[in-house]
Amino acid sequence: MKEKDIQEKTLKCFSCIKKPCQTGCPLNNNPEAFIKLAKEGNYEEAYYLLLETTVLSSVCGRICPHSKQCQGKCIRVKIDKAVEIGAIEAFIGDMGLKNNWYIKLSPLNNKKVAVVGGGPSGLTCAAFLRRNGYNVTIYERHNYLGGLLYHGIPDFRLDKTLLKRVIDNIISLGIDVKLNKSIGKDFSLEDLENQYDAVFLGFGANLSSKMNIPGEDLDGVIGGNELLESNNHPDYTDKIVVVSGGGNVAMDVSRTIKRKGAKKVYVIYRRDAKESPADMKEIEDAKEEGVEFLFQHNILGIYGKYKVEKVEVIKTELVKKEEDTRLSPINIEGSNYYLSCDYVVMAVGSYPESNIINSLGIKLDDRGRILIDKEGHTSKEKIFAGGDVAGTISTVAFASRAGRDAAYAIMEYLKDK
Ligand SMILES: Cc1cc2nc3c(=O)[nH]c(=O)nc-3n(C[C@H](O)[C@H](O)[C@H](O)COP(=O)(O)OP(=O)(O)OC[C@H]3O[C@@H](n4cnc5c(N)ncnc54)[C@H](O)[C@@H]3O)c2cc1C
Repeated sequence: MKEKDIQEKTLKCFSCIKKPCQTGCPLNNNPEAFIKLAKEGNYEEAYYLLLETTVLSSVCGRICPHSKQCQGKCIRVKIDKAVEIGAIEAFIGDMGLKNNWYIKLSPLNNKKVAVVGGGPSGLTCAAFLRRNGYNVTIYERHNYLGGLLYHGIPDFRLDKTLLKRVIDNIISLGIDVKLNKSIGKDFSLEDLENQYDAVFLGFGANLSSKMNIPGEDLDGVIGGNELLESNNHPDYTDKIVVVSGGGNVAMDVSRTIKRKGAKKVYVIYRRDAKESPADMKEIEDAKEEGVEFLFQHNILGIYGKYKVEKVEVIKTELVKKEEDTRLSPINIEGSNYYLSCDYVVMAVGSYPESNIINSLGIKLDDRGRILIDKEGHTSKEKIFAGGDVAGTISTVAFASRAGRDAAYAIMEYLKDK
């Protein structure tokens, strides 16, 4: 985006005293203050201000669900339209990368921390630790860093060249990286406990959940997370694909499949558009690309002789239940019908690899995620965790916040050691 356009966007900000946008940001970024600096053309100061809370401005500015976070709280929403905080943040972040504005580093101390997983939580934890003088090593299963930023969010939403620059900028702080190293396979948590003063676990939750309906084992039923991560797609020519879910994975996987030439892609979601976890803009973008939505529909079963041939769906109505914050879908009896299809992609949530997580010897919560307190301590001394593996709200900003919180908790823990 051009500077002129960004300047126009900054003019929309009222510089409110209460700063509701800041409370809407999971990272507690201060949009009122960085927008004021940007308005004055002082992008460098704005960049340094952002660095106090985040190392992912260029990323979050582009792919955060802004309407549900900072922009959703902007008081301009009540007048016309929220200030485009995301676009301004991305511009400032990009300026920092372009101009090599450096993150200030404390001199190295003698404490060593291992970070497992190079996604947003791990990268952020590593960056905040290194900035404060700690020796950090990231262990990553793949031969690249970024986690879901790299293999989840498609290129058409987050340019991978830009992402590489963001990651290189973080690693160039002096963070050691060990690629192709998987916890539970190449090393154990015990190995890290023996070698490091503290450990952060941020290895995500990348296995697709199932719906527990008939037919999920049929050939042609695919996990959305696995499909995006492996990028190993079948030939969709003349095929009809049903995607089950209403969040980020459903949006990205349905658009990817449509772009790869499927005849029809249906997204089936049991609530309505406004109740879906996906940003409204993403739903609109998917519709524009030809993805069809069956909101307030549930899948009852998947059927076929040898492989997927059809799904049975039923319409739902939304009712208010006292204990729920969102409206709950109830199947409407007698409204079921069959929909022919060739593939069904599950995008209804994800969970961490149980063989790995169960071998760690740390307490898990009732959903099988690593149990942590508010700062990221696990049940084991010197082991911290955060992000999707610990059931943090599944967005980049929340994962990054968890990594930052854990970094501060680790510093506090190591202070007197
Ligand atoms: C398709 C998709 C689209 C999304 N879109 C958005 C979006 O637009 N906006 C948004 O805010 N959020 C989005 N999200 C959610 C967001 O990407 C995640 O919440 C966030 O990436 C979680 O960060 P994390 O660091 O906890 O885990 P991850 O990003 O999953 O990173 C975990 C890292 O650990 C590595 N790892 C895994 N197992 C091991 C192991 N055994 N040993 C060593 N390393 C390991 C992985 O390779 C990975 O690099 C999306 C998610 C998906 C799946």
